[in-house]
Amino acid sequence: MHDHSNLSLTNHKVCNRCIYDERVASISFDESGVCNYCHQIDDLIDEYGTGLPKGEARLAQTVETIKREGHGKKYDCVIGVSGGTDSSYMVHLAKEWGLRPLAVHYDNTWNSAIATQNIEKVLRPLNVDLFTWVVNNKEADDILGRSFWLVCRNWKLRQISPMQKYFSMQPINITSARFWRATPSSMKA
Ligand SMILES: [Zn+2]
Repeated sequence: MHDHSNLSLTNHKVCNRCIYDERVASISFDESGVCNYCHQIDDLIDEYGTGLPKGEARLAQTVETIKREGHGKKYDCVIGVSGGTDSSYMVHLAKEWGLRPLAVHYDNTWNSAIATQNIEKVLRPLNVDLFTWVVNNKEADDILGRSFWLVCRNWKLRQISPMQKYFSMQPINITSARFWRATPSSMKA
């Protein structure tokens, strides 16, 4: 068990295994002071075999299914890429597993130049095609704003009424989305 005495200053009950405390939504603790979220992780590890031979076997089986179903097609899977580490590593692994991914990037026009460079740096050496979907700023802001409103609503923060008024619940009409496909050879050097 970890010693959480340094956290006791807050006077909140803290999980004996992780850093969650009683302020976390829907948290509960068992008789040994371990939270329900820790148990949820344990259940997921049991089910999927994360880090265990059982998980390895399951992954290998999934890869084989993707290959079989993608046989004869140009790509056998689609991977969303952001330019960040997680999705970049995912593309690397997919190639290592012998998959033929199409990388897809959603550009809400707030992309940093570094993110765009990262995507190219990762995909070009791996010889992975990129499909980019770009929306204009106004539409991206609309989508984000309405998502934010939904989050507020779901979190029962309806008292943020000016926000609610601002982002009225009209259907989002994406009219000027642009997209293009890039092959590694056409990506900027
Ligand atoms: Zn916990």
